[in-house]
Amino acid sequence: MAEFDFDLFVIGAGSGGVRAGRMAAAMGVKVGMAEDRYMGGTCVNVGCVPKKLFVYGSHYHEDFENAAGYGWNVQANGFDWPTLRDNKTKEIERLNGIYRNMLKNAGVNLIEGRARITGPNSVEVSGQEYSAERILIATGGWPFVPEFEGSEHAITSNEVFYLDEFPKRALVVGGGYIAVEFAGIFAGLGAETSLIYRGDMFLRGFDEEVRRFTAEEVAKKNVNLRFNNNISKIEKQSDGSLLAYMTDGTVLEADTILYATGRVPNVTDLGLETVNVEQQKNGAIVVNDNFETSEPSVYAIGDVIDRVQLTPVALAEGMALVRNLFGGQDQKVDYDLIATAVFCQPNIGTVGLSEEQAREQYSNVDVYKSSFRAMKHTLSGSDEKTFMKMLVDRDTDKVLGIHMVGADAGEIIQGMAVALKAGATKAVFDSTIGIHPTSAEEFVTMREPAK
Ligand code: FAD
Ligand code: NDP
Repeated sequence: MAEFDFDLFVIGAGSGGVRAGRMAAAMGVKVGMAEDRYMGGTCVNVGCVPKKLFVYGSHYHEDFENAAGYGWNVQANGFDWPTLRDNKTKEIERLNGIYRNMLKNAGVNLIEGRARITGPNSVEVSGQEYSAERILIATGGWPFVPEFEGSEHAITSNEVFYLDEFPKRALVVGGGYIAVEFAGIFAGLGAETSLIYRGDMFLRGFDEEVRRFTAEEVAKKNVNLRFNNNISKIEKQSDGSLLAYMTDGTVLEADTILYATGRVPNVTDLGLETVNVEQQKNGAIVVNDNFETSEPSVYAIGDVIDRVQLTPVALAEGMALVRNLFGGQDQKVDYDLIATAVFCQPNIGTVGLSEEQAREQYSNVDVYKSSFRAMKHTLSGSDEKTFMKMLVDRDTDKVLGIHMVGADAGEIIQGMAVALKAGATKAVFDSTIGIHPTSAEEFVTMREPAK
């Protein structure tokens, strides 16, 4: 029998890699893990965690204004970017340490450096070769910026968390999660902000009404929405500011231009040519239900397989893989009814089908909706509104999708996801007694379908 340095060699200490490596090591598997940038990967360092901290930070602006109606005399005496940026960085460094210790305590052999696969059972890190019975690719994704004249002056989500100076004027390009979230962050922290999207409505794939409602709310928070537009050229001026030449013929001046135009699988120089691993056109690694690639000893999970780019999905994939490989189980990841939130302001929370998808798949769909001003804003004076929507299959009474745009939508929809996973019908929602006074109680008091 062949002797290997490791039973499992994980490339990438991000969400998926850490979970898989830790779990396997806890089962007595000899695990090696390579990481070349930061412990915890994208989510911890330049993703979910610092983003959410910035969202909290940017919301104070509005909270100070809202406090007056409640009798508070609060004066915001300006915002100090280095304080937010550096406090965030300290917190991330604390988390990096926790990840490092967690891996060490689990018995994972962490090797810091860039890993390159050199064959079906071998990986090289910083000139040292390691053999492994199995290799797990968990290298995540990398921001994609289209190439055009001056595109090198744009930044991505990798840089935005570490800016030396906070911009007075910010342009955000893209219409997905990152663009919408960062437009809210920039505007909330005081930058004059425009969001530029090439299509006629951002957040493609989300429920139509949710998209339109979100656009109205985001525009109320001082984000200048420029749809059906794009940047064709960026020019840097002598004072460091940037000129963006727009496809509609206008020219915008900005201090920062953030490109949030998607992410591509991180497979650069990974040595995939030394193994028989099938890839999609965009580089994504092709795997089956068991996360096996076409090379029998090589597996892949997380953003690099480009299924659903979310941390909890990478975690679920890592856990299923380890349980199957080393725990004698046959577990499949269920990609159905994955709840998700966009942390724009107010948040979007969503689970299940959009109205458009529901109508495609079911012949009789009842649509329940509610749009209102949350109680908090009766005194705050804010004109923010909340939107809720539920889609029901009239034939079986099953709830097909739930959507919300409003404060804490991300928190509220998590519970709704459990109900939908359990197969809840509208009758179950109707028989549930609400919590009063909350916004969430609307979901159990929607009596008449709107459509
Ligand atoms: P990653 O976490 O990216 O980890 C991959 C790791 O591999 C990295 O640490 C990388 O340095 C390392 N690596 C790559 N190549 C090599 C190599 N050759 N050798 C050694 N190491 C290597 N998801 C959510 O669920 N909620 C959110 O709110 C959310 N917000 C986000 C905000 C932003 C700005 C971004 C960019 C992403 C966000 N995501 C969010 C998505 C989430 O971060 C990813 O889905 C998740 O991190 C994927 O985990 P992963 O393990 O596949 O990869
Ligand atoms: P998305 O794929 O969500 O959105 C990319 C956007 O960029 C789309 O609007 C797309 O337009 C646009 N775009 C693509 N190419 C171009 C181009 N050449 N020129 C102009 N616009 C272009 O990617 P993000 O970068 O926002 O985020 C990556 C992923 O990370 C997300 O999909 C999500 O899975 C995850 N994430 C999750 C978060 C959360 O859970 N809260 C937060 C942040 C990220 P079009 O629609 O027309 O194709």
